[in-house]
Amino acid sequence: CGIIGYVGHRESSPTILKGLQRLEYRGYDSTGIALLDGNIQVYKKAGKVKDLAAYIANKPLHSHIGMGHTRWATHGIPNDINAHPHLSNSGKLAIIHNGIIENYNTLKQELLKKGYVFTSDTDTEILINFIEDIQLYNDCSLEEAVRLALHKVIGAYAIIIMSEELPNTLIAAKKSSPLVIGIGKDEFFIASDATPILEYTDQVVYLNDYEIAIIKDGQFFLSDSKNVPLTPYIQKLDMEL
Ligand code: GLU
Repeated sequence: CGIIGYVGHRESSPTILKGLQRLEYRGYDSTGIALLDGNIQVYKKAGKVKDLAAYIANKPLHSHIGMGHTRWATHGIPNDINAHPHLSNSGKLAIIHNGIIENYNTLKQELLKKGYVFTSDTDTEILINFIEDIQLYNDCSLEEAVRLALHKVIGAYAIIIMSEELPNTLIAAKKSSPLVIGIGKDEFFIASDATPILEYTDQVVYLNDYEIAIIKDGQFFLSDSKNVPLTPYIQKLDMEL
């Protein structure tokens, strides 16, 4: 239900937790966080953001890139396993997702035939493995795999994806669910609405359906579903906290 991604100079886990608190008003049943620091670490729980905060409070977490999610369950009951982020079978890709992948079962059957295993009951875990499979099959970039996968997805989504192999990269895309990028000084935010971004920057880009945003090595790139580069329309927010 709520998404927050961060890459920049701040310590990411407190920044993301604060963002999740700002998104709480949207309603949710579970929360989770993924941090990238060499490898991807995932911490997730059914319950409130404060429960997640308590769960990770004594862990020595250091990372400048990560993402967090508040889930409103549609596929699979609210529990720790179904909470986001979800990892791919290789463990190298992580996703958070708002929305519903309507054709998840068709994709799931194809992946089961190929030997993929699933630990959750979510449509989201199918999507990240579908992307992983496309990347392996086509030997392409993660961005290209996301684009190809989304051509075959029916439904609504706002997603952020991280890869262990891309230590300074967040990939985001949306259809029918909102997603906004906040552009700060040497830092970027991605969120389902501007509330977690406001205190850091007033420069934002609202993604349009079928666009793919990549934040890579301190730069922001936007392209359409056919991989045509787009010039982001940067708006100045005049909202107040
Ligand atoms: N369909 C996904 C799930 O049930 C995402 C739900 C959401 O938007 O929070 O896990």
